Amino acid sequence: MNQEILNKAEELINYTNGNICNHCLGRKFSDCVEGNGNEDRGIKIRESLNLEAYDGGCEICHDLFNFIEDDVLDLVNEKIALLKVEFDTFVVGCKLPKEIVEKDQEISDELDFDVEIIKKEVNREIGKLLEANLEQNVDFDGEDVLVMVDFRRILKEDIENPVKVRLQINPIFIEGRYRKLVRGIPQTKWPCTKCKGRGCEECNFTGKQYPESVEELLSETVLKHTNGYEAKFHGAGREDIDVRMLGTGRPFVLEIKEPKIRKIDLEKIAEEVAEVAEGKTEYL
Ligand SMILES: [Zn+2]
Ligand SMILES: [Zn+2]
Repeated sequence: MNQEILNKAEELINYTNGNICNHCLGRKFSDCVEGNGNEDRGIKIRESLNLEAYDGGCEICHDLFNFIEDDVLDLVNEKIALLKVEFDTFVVGCKLPKEIVEKDQEISDELDFDVEIIKKEVNREIGKLLEANLEQNVDFDGEDVLVMVDFRRILKEDIENPVKVRLQINPIFIEGRYRKLVRGIPQTKWPCTKCKGRGCEECNFTGKQYPESVEELLSETVLKHTNGYEAKFHGAGREDIDVRMLGTGRPFVLEIKEPKIRKIDLEKIAEEVAEVAEGKTEYL
């Protein structure tokens, strides 16, 4: 390690009164010191300066990286089990206390470091941890789930569970065409005009103007198989309730929000839908 780097490292360590973890030390030299990750860089720098091993109290991250090692995997596993969610790919996001983000930035500004911000390292470390311990992989295009880890409460005292994890499940889209064989079925769910969907005597407390729709005849079965939270039907164009739709049919996209199961047997579902909708609508 050249003298220029070592001088700069000493300057940084003095700036933090010696209270800087290996992650934060290594991160500031991630563009010029070889290493297997920032922590490894930090350890190498410390050794080159003949300093004692780090033992806690980082002024930049307040030892946030310990929470990743200690808590995050268990929290993610708990959430997966709770939601019974099945997925193949994920990306990681995080929320950090403002104090940490600002301190990290202040040091880069004051001491003239042009390196990655702490958030980027946190996301990467969580991604590495999860990839090593889960079956799923990080995939930046077309991820199934966003794992959002919230560290914003770690600086507060006496908090029982300072780290929170949320799984944001991305929707799936099913494309097709439909035919409407009979009149009097709206394309989408139509709230009761009297009660606006709350349920009243007029609508027999269903909240709906019409008992069924092109949307519902399809979506209820698909929701059941995907264990989704909600379905949204996007039909091409408007269509009068009192006309049929025959011929090649009308294109639609069915969006399933928060599907806990995304690998579905479309043929099997199509058979079931055909039974439910028999004589009313057809989905191709
Ligand atoms: Zn640190
Ligand atoms: Zn009503």
